[in-house]
This record gives sequence, structure tokens and C-alpha cells, in this order.
Amino acid sequence: MKATLTVLGSGTSMGVPTIGCDCAVCRSSDPHDRRTRPSVLIEYNGRAVLIDTTPDFREQAIREKIQRLDAVLYTHTHADHILGIDDLRPLTYRLRPNKLPLYARPEAAEFIRNMFRYIFDADYKFGGLPQVELKLIDGPLALFGASFEPITLIHGETEIYGFRAGSAAYLTDHSEIPEASLTKLQGLDILFLDALRHKPHPTHSTVDNSLRIVERLKPKRAFFTHICHDLPHAATNASLPPGVQLSYDGMKLDFEI
Ligand SMILES: [Zn+2]
Ligand SMILES: [Zn+2]
Ligand SMILES: [Zn+2]
Repeated sequence: MKATLTVLGSGTSMGVPTIGCDCAVCRSSDPHDRRTRPSVLIEYNGRAVLIDTTPDFREQAIREKIQRLDAVLYTHTHADHILGIDDLRPLTYRLRPNKLPLYARPEAAEFIRNMFRYIFDADYKFGGLPQVELKLIDGPLALFGASFEPITLIHGETEIYGFRAGSAAYLTDHSEIPEASLTKLQGLDILFLDALRHKPHPTHSTVDNSLRIVERLKPKRAFFTHICHDLPHAATNASLPPGVQLSYDGMKLDFEI
């Protein structure tokens, strides 16, 4: 069936512009150079699945006029991917008495439960809470008529998840993609890859490294994300081969799920 992917945020953990920086990209007047923290929304069949809740989730949801959410999938628990969790409140209130399911790897679910103890504390009486429930990912997820397959990625010293849904895959935050995961990424229409910058980084992919992955997997279209202020949008895109582009906040893509 038809699905739409919206890039809510295309930036690295500190966002672009970066606080206190006056480099050319941080001062750019091109709206494509304004990058909030990394997240995408996938809509199909009247449903909406969010990947990660960034510290910019409120701003992203207002910008994209998000009216509903049916599930959240977490890639991992770094602050740039989870700290917007409390801003799920208004969207979860609409689901009452049901709770919004938050899907995560077991250790990520445990981390979220500890980090946001107040949300999961049955005795908490000090204010409104997001109506959410943690669910463990232990294989492909069947959600509203579509399948979301977790794809194991290496992010520095840790394992995290990317996700493949139909003909699209979203692989944020990785320094390496294991061979077993690469075999699950054949025949893609859309491939999102981490491409922080040109300079090597211990926990993230670079433009050159992600171009090598594109060359190997040959998706129809590839988009880079988790981008820092080293990469000006227009100039970087002009340097990329056909079929590969930097993503940007607000970008929308149709695909088959
Ligand atoms: Zn990140
Ligand atoms: Zn800068
Ligand atoms: Zn991370």
C-alpha cells in the first residue's frame, strides 16, 4: 500500500545551527540548512508511526501539523532520540483509554523506564503524563497492516536498531552495518543513512562511507541524515552522485509499504 515518509529532523545531536557557532552553515539563510534533531514520521492506511522522539519533537509536530500518532519506534536511547517523550502528551490524550505503544529493544526500554521514572510510576500525582506503554521489539513488528523489520546497526560501541518498512529503510546513528543486516536491505526504493560529515567520527558514518554503502546496496533513492554543520545543503548536494541527496527538515517522500 501507499505510504508517506516525512523527515521531521535531519540534524545531528546538537542541531544546526549549533548553539554558539557562527560558521557559514549556522549563519546560512537557506532553510535547508536549519536541521532539527533526527526523526521521521511514516503515514499509511490512516495511521502514523513515529521513529524517535527528539528534543525538537514539539516544534516538528507543530510544523508538520501532526494530528495523530499510533506507535513510536525507538532506534536507541541517546538524548537526541528520546528527550521529546513528554511532548507526546497531547497526542496520547486523544487515544484514551488506550495508551500509545512505544517499541524499543529490551535494554532501551529499560533505560527509558529508568530515565523517565515519573511517566511509568503508578503513584505519580504531580501533573499530566504521556499515556504511553513500553513494548519490547523481539523481531519484525506487524503494525496496522505493515511490517517494520528491525535492522541491527553498530553505533560506536553499542548496537542499535534501524528499521525497514516495505521499500524504505531508515538507518540513523551508525558507524558500521553488519553483513547480516546488509542482506536485509536489498531491493530498496528509499534508503536513509547517517552521514554526519566528511571527517571520520568514532560513532557515526561519513559522506564517503555512506556513499560506499549506497554503491553496494543500490537503492533507487538514497538520502543522508544526522547531518552536522560541516555540510552546507546546496553545495554538498551538488557534489553528490545522481540519486543521492542530503535530506532536509520537512522533506516528504512517497513509497510502497
Ligand atoms: Zn543521534
Ligand atoms: Zn556552525
Ligand atoms: Zn546516537
